[in-house]
Amino acid sequence: MKVTVARTAGFCRGVRDALDVTLEAIKSPQVGESICTFGPLIHNRQVLAMLEEKGISAEDQIENCAGKRVVIRAHGIPPQERKKLRQLGASLLDATCKRVARVQAAIKRHARKGFYTVIVGDADHAEVIGLMGYTEGRGVVINRPEQVDELPADWDNVLLVAQTTQNEEIFRAIQEKFRRKYPNAMIKNTICGSTHERQSEVREMCSQVEAIVIVGGYHSGNTIRLAEVAKECKVPTYHVETEADLDAQEMAHYSSVGVSAGASTPNWMIRNVVRLLESIQPERNGTKYRINRTLEQLVYSNAFVALGAALLPSAGQALTGFSISFSQCLMAAFYVFAMHTLNLYLDRDAMRLNDPGRAAFYQHWKGTFTGISIAAVAVSLWMAVNTGILTFLALGLLVLFGVLYAVPVFLPSYWQNLSALKIKDIPGSKTFFVPIAWASATVILPHLARFWGGFKEALYAFWIIALFVLIRTALLDLLAVQGDRLVGKETIVVLLGENKTTHFISAILVVLAASLLLGPVSGLSTRFAYLMLPGVVAYGWFLRMSFQKPLKEDPIFETMIESVLIGIGIVALLWS
Ligand code: SF4
Repeated sequence: MKVTVARTAGFCRGVRDALDVTLEAIKSPQVGESICTFGPLIHNRQVLAMLEEKGISAEDQIENCAGKRVVIRAHGIPPQERKKLRQLGASLLDATCKRVARVQAAIKRHARKGFYTVIVGDADHAEVIGLMGYTEGRGVVINRPEQVDELPADWDNVLLVAQTTQNEEIFRAIQEKFRRKYPNAMIKNTICGSTHERQSEVREMCSQVEAIVIVGGYHSGNTIRLAEVAKECKVPTYHVETEADLDAQEMAHYSSVGVSAGASTPNWMIRNVVRLLESIQPERNGTKYRINRTLEQLVYSNAFVALGAALLPSAGQALTGFSISFSQCLMAAFYVFAMHTLNLYLDRDAMRLNDPGRAAFYQHWKGTFTGISIAAVAVSLWMAVNTGILTFLALGLLVLFGVLYAVPVFLPSYWQNLSALKIKDIPGSKTFFVPIAWASATVILPHLARFWGGFKEALYAFWIIALFVLIRTALLDLLAVQGDRLVGKETIVVLLGENKTTHFISAILVVLAASLLLGPVSGLSTRFAYLMLPGVVAYGWFLRMSFQKPLKEDPIFETMIESVLIGIGIVALLWS
C-alpha cells in the first residue's frame, strides 16, 4: 500500500507551546505544590495519560484548582474564570495560544464599543466558551449558514469571527450571507493559518489517494473537522485514535491511502498508524516493510553511529596525512557507540515520551545494550592505556563528560533551589556537544601522540569533522523536533525553531564547503578535502528533502543521513 502522509499532520504551534509550558512547569516544581490543567490540555487521551503519570491532573471543576499551579490551555478561558481562579489562590501559567488570544482581544475591543459578536464555531467547545466570555453578554454562536436568518436584523454594530479551527467552507458560506444581511458588519476570518493549511492539504490529497485516514482524538474538534473535509471530497474517510482502530482487512482494499492528523496528535501516533498501513498487503509491499523494519532496528541499535565513528578516523588520517592505527579507529567507535547508547538509558523518560517505539526496543534489549556499552567503554579505556597515558587521560575525560551529560549534577547547597542540573538542560547543548565529542574521539585522540608536531593539520581536521557531525546532528534533530519539544530544549531546533535551524544548517554547509576548498590551498590538509565535498552536497540535498518529506523520523531518511559519514570514511580508506 502506498501511504502519503500530510506535511501538516501533527501538533500545531499552539499545542506544542502549551505542552512545553506544562512540561517546563514539571521540571521546576515548588515545594508542596500541585500542578493541574484547567480542562484537558489537549484532546488526546494518550498524551493526557502521560501527563497524568507525571502528576499533572486535568481538572474540570474550577473549585478543584484552588491553591494549585494551573495551566491555562491553548484554547483559553473566559475572563470571569480567570478572575475566579485568582480568587481561589491559584497561580496561573497562561498557555493560551497567541492566535486565540488575538481573537479574544478583538472581541473585547469591539464589545467595549457596543458591538454584538457572532462566533462561527461549536458552542460547547472550550475555545468558543472562552471567546464568549469577552462579548459582554452580546455574543451568539452559529455554525450553519441558515442560522444567519435567525439573527436580529436591527443590529448596527456587529462583529463576525470564527473559532480558530473552524471549517473554512462553512465560514465562507456564513460570511457571504452575513455580508448581505449586515453590509456594515466587521468581519474577521480568524481561522488559524495552521488549520487552513491542514484542511487545504487534505483537500489536495483527496484527489491523489483512494482513502484518507485522519489520526486524532474522537473529541478533538479540529480532527473531526479534518475528517469532515475529507468526507466532503467524497473519499472514504477513517477517523482513528490509534492504529488499533484500523480494520486491516478493510484497508487492504486500497492501494493508496493518505494520512493526516489533528493539531493535538503526537508524531509517534501518526507513525504507528503509518507503520500498520504500510504492513498491509505484504504480498506486494512486504519487501519495503521489511527493509524499513531492518533499517529501523539498525538505527535504534546505533549500528550506523558506531560504523561512522569507526571510519571517521580514516578521514582525519586522509586529511592530515599522518597515519593512525586500526585500534585507534576501534577506540573511537567503542567510545561513541557507548556514549550514545548509555545516554539513551540515562534519559529514559525523554525517550519514552519522544519515541515509544525506540523506548520499547531499548527496554527489550536493556541488559544486552547496557552490557555491551559498559564493555565498550572498558575496552576503549584499555586500548587507550596501551596507546599512552595522555590518550588514556583524554579518553577518561571524554567518558566522564559523556556519562555526565544526562545525569543530574548536584549543586552546592546554597544553589539547591535551582534543582539538580544536567548538562543536557543547557539549551541547544546536544547539537553542539555531540560534534565536539565525536571530533575529539575520531581526530584528537588518534593524533594525540604527535599533536604538537602536526597541530595545525589536526586542528583543521577536527574542525572539518566537527562541522560534518554538527550538520548530521542538526538534521537528525530537525527530524525529531516534535518529540523533543515534549521534553526539553537540548536541541538547536527546539531552541531556535525549524526555520532558523534550517538557515543555521545552510550557513554551516557554506562554511564547511569553504573550509574544504581552502584546506589544501592553505597547506592545512591534503587534497582529500576535495573528496569530502560530495558529502556537503548530500547534506544540502537532505536539508531540501526534509521540507518535502512528509513524515518525520523515517528510518530510511535517518539511514541516509548517517550514511554520509560512513561514505566519507570508506572513501578515506580507499584514499589512504
Ligand atoms: S490551531 Fe492555531 S489557533 Fe488553535 S491552538 Fe493551534 S496554532 Fe493556536
